Amino acid sequence: MDEILGQVLRDAVWERLDMLSELANHADAPSLLSVARSELPRLTEGWRSMLAAHEPDDRGNCRACSTRWRQQKAPCSVWRAAYEHLVAGGLAPQPAARHAVDEPLSVRSTSRVPAGAR
Ligand SMILES: [Zn+2]
Repeated sequence: MDEILGQVLRDAVWERLDMLSELANHADAPSLLSVARSELPRLTEGWRSMLAAHEPDDRGNCRACSTRWRQQKAPCSVWRAAYEHLVAGGLAPQPAARHAVDEPLSVRSTSRVPAGAR
């Protein structure tokens, strides 16, 4: 039952993402503005919530990805994906504006690692 519920949940999220991509690519400007105003805060809140769960503990390990037997050093894959998609990608502020961003050094340094090398 949990497996079915998990699949339903994942399908719903993929469908939502597909719908947002479809809107971004094909909606007219007024519709797009309306969707952006309603969905961007939800997306940023979702990222914040997810990233908060993956904050490092006092030993520098991800709280969510670490287990008792295997520690995951921060930044974990969730933080690296966030940096890659939100900062290194199209949403990134220009380098001149970067000084205002409170960006942990450890996150910044991983962005220079080519994707294939991770
Ligand atoms: Zn993590």
